[in-house]
Amino acid sequence: MSDTFDIAIVGAGMAGASLAAALGGHASALLLEAEDRPGYHTTGRSAAFWQESYGGAGVQPLTTASGAFLRDHGFLTERNALTLARAGQEQRLEDFAARFAALGVGVELIGRAALTERVPGLREGWVLGALEPACSDIDVAGLHQHYLRAARQAGVELWTSARLETAEPAAGGWRLGLSGGRAARCRVLVNAAGAWADPVAGIAGAAPLGITPLRRTIAQLRTAPAPPSDLPVVFDIAETFYFKPESGRVWLCPHDETPSPPCDAAPEEIDVAVAIERFGAVVDWAVERVEHKWAGLRSFAPDRLPVYGFDPARPGFFWFAGQGGFGIQTAPAAADLAARLILGSGGGEVDPAPFAPSRFAGK
Ligand SMILES: Cc1cc2nc3c(=O)[nH]c(=O)nc-3n(C[C@H](O)[C@H](O)[C@H](O)COP(=O)(O)OP(=O)(O)OC[C@H]3O[C@@H](n4cnc5c(N)ncnc54)[C@H](O)[C@@H]3O)c2cc1C
Repeated sequence: MSDTFDIAIVGAGMAGASLAAALGGHASALLLEAEDRPGYHTTGRSAAFWQESYGGAGVQPLTTASGAFLRDHGFLTERNALTLARAGQEQRLEDFAARFAALGVGVELIGRAALTERVPGLREGWVLGALEPACSDIDVAGLHQHYLRAARQAGVELWTSARLETAEPAAGGWRLGLSGGRAARCRVLVNAAGAWADPVAGIAGAAPLGITPLRRTIAQLRTAPAPPSDLPVVFDIAETFYFKPESGRVWLCPHDETPSPPCDAAPEEIDVAVAIERFGAVVDWAVERVEHKWAGLRSFAPDRLPVYGFDPARPGFFWFAGQGGFGIQTAPAAADLAARLILGSGGGEVDPAPFAPSRFAGK
């Protein structure tokens, strides 16, 4: 088995796996994962929805462009999203709806009577909603496995328990030192290390971009009544919670964003308690039990847009990082965009310019 590749990708979460699948067949590639299995960190901890407005207007082109692939391959199941406003927040919600409608996103405003049809037990005070009918659940594990399988079939090697520890420039490329004493060489080194993106840049001698991991929590609740299976993902326009139904239970998030070092993130009791308190102000359902809870790290660049492109100061070092809270729903378009940049093939549906790491140069 050769240890020399055109491209080595650090991180086998959704980012690294999707990019490996896009590069496979066009270049020899190695996918490196520090853990003993891919998908252990943020990719395995998401809320699993595709929503075009999520992540803001700058992310929407990537989400929208990913929709056809996800739908055509059977990874989406219709869900609907509903963003709620209390009395006094109507203008904010109307601005939100107008902003995304102008971008071509299907969004319609609905009043209190229609809200209570969709969210039984909705408390008084919630007066207006923005409905996004296209919002869907994503089969995250299925999508991740699809990419890993496609990469393998295209000849990409996956090395697990292979943490990148050193990366030295060598002969127009890189000499890589991995945990366990393994080594490899590559021409292009891709940083798809999620919460570890800045430390991995440091290993390769590239300047960090200020990509910050922020912890986010989800609690799985048993409620009475159980949520209707056709309940939308329910958000509030003030961004203090969201919840959705999952197999007769509620997945509830307090919209927390607590800065964290890169780590195996764990939920804090206080975040679960805050989530339940907020939930109780939305619907009159009793919370019978917290059945399960988890947390993951969403990693953001300073402007909260992802970072896709070659480092302007470190030849052969490519950023594929900062996927924030949208790295699943944007994966198909992001991987296509990044593969085109790496292979120099041009074209593509989404303009890469807003995501270039050079936007931070000199800051
Ligand atoms: C609670 C929560 C809800 C979310 N909900 C959604 C949602 O509904 N929709 C959506 O689109 N997104 C959602 N997200 C965001 C989404 O999960 C992430 O954007 C996405 O998983 C990021 O994928 P990644 O591959 O960049 O990171 P990861 O999955 O964390 O993968 C990075 C990998 O790099 C590896 N690594 C790190 N350092 C090294 C090294 N030195 N050598 C080798 N390997 C290394 C790690 O072990 C890790 O496996 C959510 C996130 C959270 C936490």
